[in-house]
Amino acid sequence: MTAIYEAILEDKARVWKSSELKDMLRRSLSKRIRITADPHKRGKASTKLRRYYEKYTVLVSETLKEPSFQTFVHSLLKKENMEVEKIADVQIKTFPVKKENGNSLVGKCSNKGVICLYPQGIRFWRKRMPNGRKDEITFYIKCRARAALIHEILHTKYLSKEGRVRELTRKYFNAFMRRNELDQNKQRIIQKIFPTAPLHKPEQSLKR
Ligand SMILES: [Zn+2]
Repeated sequence: MTAIYEAILEDKARVWKSSELKDMLRRSLSKRIRITADPHKRGKASTKLRRYYEKYTVLVSETLKEPSFQTFVHSLLKKENMEVEKIADVQIKTFPVKKENGNSLVGKCSNKGVICLYPQGIRFWRKRMPNGRKDEITFYIKCRARAALIHEILHTKYLSKEGRVRELTRKYFNAFMRRNELDQNKQRIIQKIFPTAPLHKPEQSLKR
């Protein structure tokens, strides 16, 4: 847990009181982030495909558990007046799920606060980033994972108000990324992640 302290100390934009720190560590969202695989899909996948998805999900899990991102998420929850306990479970799914339009589902959340995040298949990179280098694809996956978690967390508060959720996702994502050096290439990749198309499929369960 020392890494999380260091990240907080580096976070000059935010003054953390020691009581807040203790509280955050105790209620840390990191503890509720886990990788889950559909055994049926795992059984059907080739070794190569399995290895690809396993590497992908480990990268997503590590990215979301990064102390700097975790402290950021806790600030977001505080700003939005949300209780971290409302996020019951964050499942990083190993295998993708296709939407009716053929695109991969990015994420979804239930009204019980269960968030599921899904990977992109191999074919996606050939289509979207045919000449993408490994570091560019890694950057894309990391940014997409952060944006997807922010998006689904916001859905637990704003329910099916997709427009509002998208607007705030972009705002918070940009606020987090401002801490990083972003060259033109990275900015181009971020633009690919925030197209005009919806980030996820609205869940029926969200409509109360
Ligand atoms: Zn959405």
